[in-house]
Formats: sequence, structure tokens, C-alpha cells
Amino acid sequence: PPPGRPLPPPPGGADQAPSPGTPVLAVRNVRKAFGEHVVLDDLSLEVTAHQVVVLIGASGSGKSTLLRCIDLLEDVDDGVIELEGQDITDPRLDADAVRARIGMVFQAYNLFPHLRVLDNVTLAPRLVHKVPRAQAEEEALAVLARIGLADKARAFPDELSGGQQQRVAIARALVGKPAVMLLDEVTSALDPELVGEVLELLTELKQTGLTMVVATHEMAFAREVADEVVFLHAGRVHERGTPEQVLGAPRRGRTQEFLRRVS
Ligand code: ADP
Ligand code: MG
Repeated sequence: PPPGRPLPPPPGGADQAPSPGTPVLAVRNVRKAFGEHVVLDDLSLEVTAHQVVVLIGASGSGKSTLLRCIDLLEDVDDGVIELEGQDITDPRLDADAVRARIGMVFQAYNLFPHLRVLDNVTLAPRLVHKVPRAQAEEEALAVLARIGLADKARAFPDELSGGQQQRVAIARALVGKPAVMLLDEVTSALDPELVGEVLELLTELKQTGLTMVVATHEMAFAREVADEVVFLHAGRVHERGTPEQVLGAPRRGRTQEFLRRVS
């Protein structure tokens, strides 16, 4: 939708949304190593309903690994990850069912080039979650309309701009009405002039109450949209707080140094 126009309520109705303060995601004392290299070290993080938590930190600080552990793309060595109160590190759980509650978007918009936008968005619901085609397409079109790309449903990815492709990737992550969205540097692969439309979409999604964990180098976005900013250093939470505090008045030397380098 054009800037300024309020978004329609999310498909399915906002009435199903949990009330603010309800825990959605809890990462407790997670440790993850690759060989000898400890990448996440006793890391804890809590995200409540409608909260946007922004992860910042130097390259290699563990942001992607943390998001990948939450999406069960990596096993943790120690600690617990709870999604909607359920320990998702329990190996007896069906990982696909867990991932259906999580919307993950990566840096490089990995749409399938040979599939039209609508098929990209409906693929996982239809094949993995066995949603009937008609229902999957109806939901997909509702989400595409919500992000202003309904007219691109029949297009192939290479007929879209990079920013539009990344918005489709976000739409794809939104269709199952996930409890939380995880976004890993989703603007890093975009030409600078295309970054704005993607960040604007995320800002709009926050206004609809979507719960998100966002790894980003876009400090202006973090300042504007984050409820909490978490600065990772060497796989640990080095400093956390409101954007005003962490970005405006960082207490610790490494945070100050990082912010000097990125600003
Ligand atoms: P960030 O996203 O903050 O840049 P990453 O989570 O990608 O950080 O990486 C954290 C550290 O873990 C880096 O040192 C990286 O080289 C290492 N790492 C990430 N994935 C693997 C892997 N599959 N095998 C070995 N090392 C890895
Ligand atoms: Mg990363």
C-alpha cells in the first residue's frame, strides 16, 4: 500500500493475537560451538508478543547462528529454546511443525526462480503443511495484497526488483501466521535504493503487531522500530536495552566501538 495508508488487519483477524507481554520466544542459556569454536555462549533472550527485538553486532558475533538455532537449522549444544511455551529443542518434536510457527527470512531472497510469485508463496503450505491449493492461494493472495504486491502474483522472480523479491520472501514467511518472524540481514543484499521499501514493510508489519527478531546493520531502522536492542559480542549478549539506551548512550566500550564503526 502507498505510504500513510493504514494496513488492513492481518488475514485471520487480529483478535487471535496474544496480548502484549505474553512470552512468545525464550532462549535460555544456549550454547553452540562449531568444533572448538564457541559461537553462542550462555546466551539468553526473551521476546514477548508484538515485541521487535533487534540484534546488532559485528560480523561473526553469532547473530545468524542464533536465528538458525531458533529455526532448528542448527542443534544447540546446551540450553533451551521455548516457542509459545514449548521446548523446541526437544528432539522428539516434528521440526517442520515447529518451523510452521516461525517465519524465517534470509539475506539473499531465495525465491525459486522457476516458480511464479504465487507458487513461491504457497509451496511450503501446500507441500509441507498439506494445505489445500485453493486455501493456500487465497491466503497467499491476501498476504500479497497486504504488502502491495497482489498484481505480481503471476510474475516470475526475475521480473521483480530486488526489493520486491525480498518483500515476496517476507510474504512467504508470513502466510502461515507465524508466532514470530526471524529476519537475518534482509536488506544486506539489496542495492541501497531498494533498502527503504523493505524496511518500510517491516515497520508496517510492526504496526500490525507482528512479533519479530531482526538481525540488521541498519541502525536508523533499529532506532525507529526496536523495542529492545541486543548487542552481541563473541556469542554473548554484551549489552541490551532500549534503542535510546544502547544506541544513544551505550555503557560498554565494545558497544561504543561497534557503533562508531557502523555509523
Ligand atoms: P553473524 O551472523 O553475527 O555474522 P554468524 O552466526 O554467522 O555471525 O557466525 C558466528 C561464528 O560462527 C563465525 O565465526 C562463523 O565463522 C562461525 N560459523 C557459523 N556457521 C558455521 C558453521 N556451519 N561451521 C563452522 N563455523 C561456523
Ligand atoms: Mg549473519
